[in-house]
Amino acid sequence: MRTIGLIGGMSWESSAEYYRIINQEMNRRLGGVHSAQCLMYSVDFEGIKRLQHEGDWERLAKEMREAALRLERGGADFIVLCTNTMHRVADAVSSAVSIPLLHIADPTAEKIKAAGFERIGLLGTAFTMEQDFYKGRLTQHHGLEVIVPDESDRRIVHEIIYRELVLGQIKPESRQAYREIIARLIERGAQAVILGCTEIMLLVSYEDSAVPLFDTTTIHALAAVDEALKED
Ligand code: GLU
Repeated sequence: MRTIGLIGGMSWESSAEYYRIINQEMNRRLGGVHSAQCLMYSVDFEGIKRLQHEGDWERLAKEMREAALRLERGGADFIVLCTNTMHRVADAVSSAVSIPLLHIADPTAEKIKAAGFERIGLLGTAFTMEQDFYKGRLTQHHGLEVIVPDESDRRIVHEIIYRELVLGQIKPESRQAYREIIARLIERGAQAVILGCTEIMLLVSYEDSAVPLFDTTTIHALAAVDEALKED
């Protein structure tokens, strides 16, 4: 088995989900008392959040490069960056280490295409919904059409992530707000919706949506297990 190198802490609430899903899936596949061979470097999210909101992606790239290097030095065979937003600096991370980075958008897009969907709604932080690093990967690399909520809905999605979900706060009124935002994406033609922030799965599940949801936390964690079990 290969060693998975997880960059976590963004937030730790979702990193705990990665750890749980990866270990459960490894046991489901291998049986016995098998579990995943992995390392996690978990950051202090306070400073990360501040730098994101200041737009200091240079500094964030440096922090993520250092995290990846620690994992490589510790024996990781590949890197899993446990957040959609921080894939803004995915290229900087990849070029800093000699081990591969398993990009969160790729297994997500593969699953969407395998299910036959082309027009897809995207929920995530404002950075993920508004900047090109994520939508661009889905459209240019994978040929998907991406629909994001309008500005006021994007603000609601973003605020709920940073004020509640990263602290593990699950509020029924926030779930209802997400339901309504998902319904508006469907009205605009979304055939399915990407939960493009690794905490959204804590709040929303399939019964909150009339179309299929693609949860990036689960998809990315399962892809990490695939990668760890690949034959050389
Ligand atoms: N976990 C979130 C994501 O998947 C947001 C936290 C962060 O900014 O990294 O985008």
